[in-house]
Amino acid sequence: MAEQQVILEARNITKDYGGGRVLDGVSLQVHKGEVIVLIGPSGCGKSTFLRCMNGLEQIQSGQILLDGEVITEGKTDWTKVRQKIGMVFQSYELFPHMSVIDNLVLGPVKVQGRDKKEVTKEAEKLLERVGLLDKKDAFPRQLSGGQKQRVAIVRALILKPEILLFDEVTAALDPEMVREVLDVILELAADGYTMLIVTHEMQFAKAVADKIVFIDGGKVVESGIPEKFFTQPETDRARRFLNTFIYAKGGEKA
Ligand code: ADP
Ligand code: MG
Repeated sequence: MAEQQVILEARNITKDYGGGRVLDGVSLQVHKGEVIVLIGPSGCGKSTFLRCMNGLEQIQSGQILLDGEVITEGKTDWTKVRQKIGMVFQSYELFPHMSVIDNLVLGPVKVQGRDKKEVTKEAEKLLERVGLLDKKDAFPRQLSGGQKQRVAIVRALILKPEILLFDEVTAALDPEMVREVLDVILELAADGYTMLIVTHEMQFAKAVADKIVFIDGGKVVESGIPEKFFTQPETDRARRFLNTFIYAKGGEKA
């Protein structure tokens, strides 16, 4: 992994909201093909960090680099950047008045100027991959949460991003639908996609991550390979966090 190119990097970034400092000097590198999972207590700044990485929030200091280029200074074309940094949210964000296929084709055709026929074919291929080809003409309201989230993942993939950001994409789903979405992400990892993932699903984190980054109070408290982090965390804060999961998840061992 050390020889791989760095795709996305945060250098000592800070972010304030009104009164408080939410990110307090966070540095992180994501290499090509690497899967990093961010974990930490609610409110520690995980979503804010992801949102800063693709310009949905402005940072106060530090730098963010994409492919070695600073994107937080000077003139940045964020529309271009967001084609390279795909993001999937907890809440799907599909257009309710458009069919699945139209939701998927819109971005590539409107923003990237790609050929509609070709994009439609590609969308169908990707839908097939996530088991939803038969839903291509359905509207979002006709889909389950798990199906909507798989469509949202395809919508991110079809722009051919260099890295995908996932922000608790299974948090709003009924338990029986969590698996079908996590399986898609596991497959993307196996295919070598570069990903930065926020999740509270600890078993999934352990399975998918090359590296766990534990954040608390807007700072990276510790990071390391999952095998080590989940069995021998270095800090008391990480240990306490992992312990809360054993109870909260009804005995699932962290
Ligand atoms: P996490 O995703 O780890 O749960 P967030 O990044 O959502 O944490 O939030 C970090 C902190 O920033 C929290 O204290 C939250 O209340 C605050 N925060 C998040 N978004 C905003 C906002 N738009 N305005 C003001 N405060 C915010
Ligand atoms: Mg969050």
